[in-house]
Amino acid sequence: MLAAEIIRKKRDGGELSKAELSQLIDGLVDGSVSEGQAAAFAMATFFQKMSVAERVALTEAMRDSGETLTWDLPGPVVDKHSTGGVGDNVSLMLAPALAACGVYVPMISGRGLGHTGGTLDKFDSIPGYNTNPDVDLLRKVTREVGCAIIGQTADIAPADKILYGIRDVTATVESVDLITASILSKKLAAGLDALVLDVKCGNGAFMATPDDARELAQSLVNVANGAGCKTSAIMTDMNEPLASAAGNAVEMRNAVDFLTGAHVDNRLWDVVVALGGELLALSGAAVNPGQGRDRMESALTSGAAAERFGQMVAALGGPTDFVENMLTYLPAAPVVREVFAAKDGFVQAIETRGVGLAVIELGGGRRVAADKIDYSVGFSEIAGLGRMVNAEEPLAIVHALSDDAADKAAQNLQAAMRIGDNPPKDTPLILEHLGAEGA
Ligand code: URA
Repeated sequence: MLAAEIIRKKRDGGELSKAELSQLIDGLVDGSVSEGQAAAFAMATFFQKMSVAERVALTEAMRDSGETLTWDLPGPVVDKHSTGGVGDNVSLMLAPALAACGVYVPMISGRGLGHTGGTLDKFDSIPGYNTNPDVDLLRKVTREVGCAIIGQTADIAPADKILYGIRDVTATVESVDLITASILSKKLAAGLDALVLDVKCGNGAFMATPDDARELAQSLVNVANGAGCKTSAIMTDMNEPLASAAGNAVEMRNAVDFLTGAHVDNRLWDVVVALGGELLALSGAAVNPGQGRDRMESALTSGAAAERFGQMVAALGGPTDFVENMLTYLPAAPVVREVFAAKDGFVQAIETRGVGLAVIELGGGRRVAADKIDYSVGFSEIAGLGRMVNAEEPLAIVHALSDDAADKAAQNLQAAMRIGDNPPKDTPLILEHLGAEGA
């Protein structure tokens, strides 16, 4: 069929077949479908939406547009995807803890998007760490260490790379159908046995309301299971930064402190353990999520996860003593100082997106894709909701390149935090759990 006829069918609300979707996606990669046609298809999909069968077919076509990995390992192959937030450094602890539990985690991660931080940018703060190894090194490190956190290689789901670029400039990013296929095509190309999704919900997430987060979570769960990967989702709160740090080197330091037990943020612990427990159960490595959570806790408290993390960093080109001596390796900002609230009281609300944007303004994220990041900047020791702040207890510590930048970041942080006379009501961290078909 002519590409234009397939686009017309979607434009008019028809249901596309697997063959029609494959034709469009294959054509996008081999050049027989133009960028203009891909943009029209994306816009037609944005308005007309897709059935679950179409989403699965689109995801599979995009997954198969490049290399798909297969594994021959003594344990299941698993991964996690987060829809993104502020202070979300979960992957840094989750992957090595899972590896210490005997499963394998080839974690293909992304860079910062919008106001959210990206796992790869955090790893780029480690001198020598190779976030773009070839597939052979990914295989070797996954086999030998149990986990490898890396970026998308050019061979994995190339159709997504092309289509994402087109969506980005044609106002078609915000389509649950296209987001689902985009996220899952990359994850499924990694040859996973099980996947868990951390769908963030709140004022620091892309999906601010529970309804929107649930719609995306259910779509991801249904399509991933439909494509043969055991998948569930946990919706977690993003109305405050998850870790007490936001930035790249500062989140790396927070993660290593978590792994060694030097400093553990409780909310972060709960999310890491919940996601890991879920994955261990989904993949059959634990009999149920409860047992999975127990195994995760042992991997973290015994130091086994920290050991795997150190091995992964070394295997991917970083220092062999990174865990022991991270402060000698991580870049440090020239200006480090406390930021205080304008009045004493309790942190009642945090405009979390504003905290993420303040990190970008410090130079810790990108305004345009070509921007270079400064890995040293950000905030540490961020006061969470309910924390008492006063002349001794700061809102956070800012890490900046200059006094002016620190002043501006302090103003941005103060504007993002509402201080009142009473602590806010406790709200749950783990909001919902979604299995296949809402089970
Ligand atoms: N992340 C992706 O990988 N794709 C999207 O479409 C949105 C977020």
